[in-house]
Amino acid sequence: MKILCIGEALIDMICVDKGKSLTEGNNFLKKAGGAPTNVAAAIAALGGEVELAAKVGIDPFGTHMIEVMESFKVSTKWVFRDEQYFTTFAFVSLMENGERDFYFNRGADGQLTADEIEAIDLSGVSIIHFGSATAFLPGPLQAAYVHLLQKALKQNIYISFDPNYRHLLIKNDTASFINQCWHFLENCHFFKVSDEEAMLLTATQTLDEAVAALLVKTTAVFTITLGKEGTLLGLNNTTTIIPSISVQPVDTTGAGDAFVGAALYQLKDFSVAQIQSLTAADWHKIISNANKAGARTCEYLGAMEAFKHLSNDIFN
Ligand code: ATP
Repeated sequence: MKILCIGEALIDMICVDKGKSLTEGNNFLKKAGGAPTNVAAAIAALGGEVELAAKVGIDPFGTHMIEVMESFKVSTKWVFRDEQYFTTFAFVSLMENGERDFYFNRGADGQLTADEIEAIDLSGVSIIHFGSATAFLPGPLQAAYVHLLQKALKQNIYISFDPNYRHLLIKNDTASFINQCWHFLENCHFFKVSDEEAMLLTATQTLDEAVAALLVKTTAVFTITLGKEGTLLGLNNTTTIIPSISVQPVDTTGAGDAFVGAALYQLKDFSVAQIQSLTAADWHKIISNANKAGARTCEYLGAMEAFKHLSNDIFN
């Protein structure tokens, strides 16, 4: 069965002049990115059949994005191309003081419409993963997201969600972001958050408080990724920390996306009812395997580079 990932497909322009701000830096590395795009690439790298629903421009960067996805064997049948809007860019640099300088040039990704979503054929799709920071910023993608959620619920498709809160991107829209996230947290079957996101979404100050609030307010299976400490699994009103494996991290970018991709890859051939009847031991095995995918991703520089080294051999 297939997995469909929806959300932003963008180009990260990473400043490679050490310590420089975006104003000072001259040299930038072009990297295809966006969280749902990463998840799709990770699933494909593991050997899963996966489609990406997103929008890019008709410019060379949109073409590059499609080529990168196809190099991973991600289906780009539902990657739409906008004739008016340029492919979305995120410019990032790590400055001397350790802060990130960030500039986001939003373009085509936010223009995916509910009509385009309506055209997507969901036959053979067992899981839809909604993973996007930008989906809840103002624009047509907001309604498109909700439309696909409704379509998925009607067709009894397993729904996965990752809010991907990015402070520099969302800081002026945080209240609306949280509000829209809750619609997905309440309706999905599985979600993954970081510890910071868990506290932000539950308006709590500690991880324990956040976990308690999530257990009360949601019915989904949930995971809270904790970096090298592994992952907290919330299942049937109980929580367990599932340790990761020890690696020498080079770059943690994309570890969370590889984690989600690996978890969904292991669920893709089950129906919603079958997933709901998995035991705690089954979930421990799934999350432990997903941790291995996250850890492997930390061993390489850049998410897409790491996914080239990902395969389902790590589950053995
Ligand atoms: P993202 O920045 O992609 O949203 P995230 O913050 O959600 O990621 P992390 O906690 O960084 O995700 O990593 C996801 C998973 O990868 C962790 O739950 C863990 O299993 C594994 N992982 C991350 N960092 C390390 C590490 N340094 N050593 C071992 N495993 C790691």
